[in-house]
Amino acid sequence: LPLPASGATPVRVMTVAGSDSGGGAGIQADMRTFALLGLHACVAVTAVTVQNSTGVTGIQEIEPSVVAAQMRSVVPDIGVSAVKTGMLASGPIIDAIADAAVDLRIGRDADVPLVVDPVCASMHGDPLLAADALGALKERLFPLATVVTPNLDEVRLLTGIDVVDADTQRAAAVALHALGPRWALVKGGHLRGSDVSPDVLYDGTGFLEFPSARIDTPHDHGAGDTLAAAITGALGHGYAVPDAVGFAKQWVTRGLAAAYPLGAGHGPVNPLW
Ligand code: PLP
Repeated sequence: LPLPASGATPVRVMTVAGSDSGGGAGIQADMRTFALLGLHACVAVTAVTVQNSTGVTGIQEIEPSVVAAQMRSVVPDIGVSAVKTGMLASGPIIDAIADAAVDLRIGRDADVPLVVDPVCASMHGDPLLAADALGALKERLFPLATVVTPNLDEVRLLTGIDVVDADTQRAAAVALHALGPRWALVKGGHLRGSDVSPDVLYDGTGFLEFPSARIDTPHDHGAGDTLAAAITGALGHGYAVPDAVGFAKQWVTRGLAAAYPLGAGHGPVNPLW
């Protein structure tokens, strides 16, 4: 992706997401990827998590109106060319974000592409979205999404489909696409018993596959956030969705290969040029 000239205003993007005090996932992962891609990162904070390398021990949600106000302040002033959502915490926060997105012309049929990473839990199993907020996610945000990027646990929660092979992965992509996004990306990263972890991208007409080598590391904290952030950054630079996904896959694969240990638990992916 092109880096801006010194002193020139870069492409701006926005993440609507939660803070990870351990600096691995969430807003901190998004901003790391955006900065490395030469983008200016705007942020609407949805929640502050109390979190280290071993897990999440507390969550302070931000008032829904304050989440939306961050978007409504930034977008007309600074201007953004792509938006990403990550940890959204609650149904009322999702409703406020969806209302703001419609007003600000963010979404699949509007001016600014929207990447929805439907974060439900951390890899330790700590919930990051209220159980009663799945309906709001599906009914309010999915129809606005340019692309959704669930992992296999999130696919099960959202569609009821247990992805065990290539056929069920495709069926899940069809079911997710029926919820309204322009594209559905079903990440295969957690697919059992395979050396490769193909991701499947579906737009209602055909399936695109993105194979990648499985990188066996316990230090994969923030991998999902980083993938969605790299897709968002590439869309901000004007890439089409399949090209953005291809770029982001490479970005995360390299980030996993360069991941480092941190604390007593899981270290973060480490995206590098
Ligand atoms: N914390 C926050 C704030 C997040 O947004 C996410 C993922 O989106 C996580 C934690 C979980 O990251 P992981 O599943 O990589 O541990």
